[in-house]
Amino acid sequence: MRNTLTGKKEPFIPMKDRHVRWYTCGPTVYDSSHVGHARTYLSFDIMRRIMTDYLHYNVLYQVNTTDIDDKIILRARQNELLRLLEEDTSVDYSKLITLAKEALDEAKLKSDEKKAKIEDELNTAKLNNDSRARTEQEGLLEQHLVKRKNLDNDEIAILKACEVSNGDDDMDDARSSLLLAAKSVIAEKLDREKGHLITDHAVFNAHARKYEREFMEDMEALGIREPDVLTRVTEYVPQIIEFVEKIIAKGMAYKSNGSVYLSLDEFQAKGHNYRKLNPAGPGGAATSAAEMAEGEGALGGGGGTNEKRNPNDFALWKASKAGEPAWESPFGPGRPGWHIECSVVAGDILGERLDIHSGGEDLKFPHHDNELAQSEACFGCNQWVNYFTHTGHLHIAGLKMSKSLKNFVTIRQALEHNTARQLRIMFLLQAWDQPMNYSDQTIDDARSKETTFKNFFREVEALVRNDYLDEEVGWRMGEADHKLADAYLASRQTVHESLLDNFNTKDAMAALLKVINEANAYLRSPNAKPSTLLLRAIATYVTQILQVFGVISGADEFGFGSGTADGKGGDAAADGSGSESYIGAMVNFRESVRDAALEAAKGGDSKAAIQSILQICDSLRDETLPTLGVRLEDRPTGTMWNLEDPEVMIKEMADKAAKEKEIQLGKLEKQLVARTKELEKVKSSMIKPEELFKTDEFKEWDENGVPTLLANGDPVSGGQVKKKKKAIDKQAKAYKDLMDKSGNNPQEVLESTQKQVDDIQAKLKELSV
Ligand SMILES: [Zn+2]
Repeated sequence: MRNTLTGKKEPFIPMKDRHVRWYTCGPTVYDSSHVGHARTYLSFDIMRRIMTDYLHYNVLYQVNTTDIDDKIILRARQNELLRLLEEDTSVDYSKLITLAKEALDEAKLKSDEKKAKIEDELNTAKLNNDSRARTEQEGLLEQHLVKRKNLDNDEIAILKACEVSNGDDDMDDARSSLLLAAKSVIAEKLDREKGHLITDHAVFNAHARKYEREFMEDMEALGIREPDVLTRVTEYVPQIIEFVEKIIAKGMAYKSNGSVYLSLDEFQAKGHNYRKLNPAGPGGAATSAAEMAEGEGALGGGGGTNEKRNPNDFALWKASKAGEPAWESPFGPGRPGWHIECSVVAGDILGERLDIHSGGEDLKFPHHDNELAQSEACFGCNQWVNYFTHTGHLHIAGLKMSKSLKNFVTIRQALEHNTARQLRIMFLLQAWDQPMNYSDQTIDDARSKETTFKNFFREVEALVRNDYLDEEVGWRMGEADHKLADAYLASRQTVHESLLDNFNTKDAMAALLKVINEANAYLRSPNAKPSTLLLRAIATYVTQILQVFGVISGADEFGFGSGTADGKGGDAAADGSGSESYIGAMVNFRESVRDAALEAAKGGDSKAAIQSILQICDSLRDETLPTLGVRLEDRPTGTMWNLEDPEVMIKEMADKAAKEKEIQLGKLEKQLVARTKELEKVKSSMIKPEELFKTDEFKEWDENGVPTLLANGDPVSGGQVKKKKKAIDKQAKAYKDLMDKSGNNPQEVLESTQKQVDDIQAKLKELSV
């Protein structure tokens, strides 16, 4: 395997027996994990699977999460301060405007100062003809300009949010939008002013736990095997203190102002080498200021570089200022430095020497070089790690991934668009220790390879089912069979050699795909009667290797022969597992189609028979197959089928049925309103016009039924008589209409309308159950 310590590929020799003591730096749990993490942990997962499942080493694999770190402290503190501000109603919209504008001015001022400083350094570098410093400062300037652009965008958003509201009803909304727009500048300002007031460990702890949990969930979603041992820094503080004391006792570390630093001068005077992984240029140029700053964390060292004897010394223990979590120690209250944790937890679990140590490329320096130095100092050895492995950088569409470039892809986002299997195949198609590009093209490539595998497995399965050891096929091998057999052996050989050569999954995958291509060509060549046994051997082998790679997991239906022992359909039928339900569905389908056809043949309605057969086909697609986990889609090019989780499909069916029911209910309710209205109309139209006013209100009527005397004997007024006449005329028309329409049988119309209303009500009742 390629050993970053020597920069060469070296044969792997474990220290003891076939045991492999393997340590991997886990994430610093301050934010969501991104696809760069996915690459690192998936690559090591694949290597570990090859070590255990293919090469049969005895691996003990440890991962540690960094849950004490300056970035965690800073994030947790700023989030807490923002939360408190959000809840503080005394800071109303207008006060918030003042605060946001102040914070913005301060941020701009700081940004200007930073730019001036970088430009100064750049000029000095140019004057001194120092090309390394010049490149570094140019890089910093570029980063600064991106950050400045983001700040300018923030400014636009903040000023907009400051003008939003004049009305008083949406003051709360205006306050929230301003808080959102000004979030980052306000967080920095509050942290400068009030950060020291956040002292509760629970604030930092909760932040770390949240992202640690997210990381574990992401790893599970990616199908990464759990480590054999998990550790975290907060549970190792006493051991870390002991470890630091040992280095002090050996004279290679010193206390300074509450912090402890590793003395590089003393370390090297004792014969050790520093920067083994990332030698600092020809002649061992000094560490740059930027590298130093990165190594010491976002909150800086205990009290600045003047605490150090040599500016390149690094912190083993950092004195904590107010607002930074602190643990008691003989050096004073403080916290572990960034690098010390890995040496301590690995030492505790795996012993004083490691077979393999892994991590992402960006951890080489300073993190891993510092780990090496402090471990050598403590354990008194010259080679703490035998094989150091680093995954290559991951670029997003050709660019370095960063939040400021807005091309930051979290693992969750990547999994929204791709399956874990597709991501894994994508990484398998790359050399794990080389830089790679994550782009639409690399993922499309992975998808198409996935399809190639899947189609091959399904085709061989169908073949095996149809003529497994059919006596009539003939067993004699022809020329094409011999060629395929050779290709099969060559593929196995290449896969084996590739895996032994620095876990070269790229070539191994190519060898698997090559034999599949050969087999596909063989299957499509005319006049050939395919050798089912040979094809089955190839499909089984490819499946085994993909299982080693973690592309196929134990239970899934991707690989060859899934659901049956070896792709022989007969086996499943014999023991009744799996295929019975499919056979049942097929038999029922046949019976229904047959019945419909026979009915038509007997002289029935052939059009109706066609309708009913189409309906049977739809019901197979929409009702029967979904419960078996088969999805059919009718497309212009023909029917596509796919396997799907039956639970997912059953849920889809239920959702669809619920939607249809809702539509049906709506329709029926409308019908009910219309029919009820009609019923009322029939009822009222049935009254004969002359009977309309035959009520207790009146005493006498004329021949047309117009009332003339009120019940008390008074005459009905002229105006009223006119009105009643009109009403009677209207009723006469309605009555006549009803009589005409019903053929003088209004009772029948009444009954049938009433029945319609009753029927609708019954249907509604049935549906609502
Ligand atoms: Zn580490």
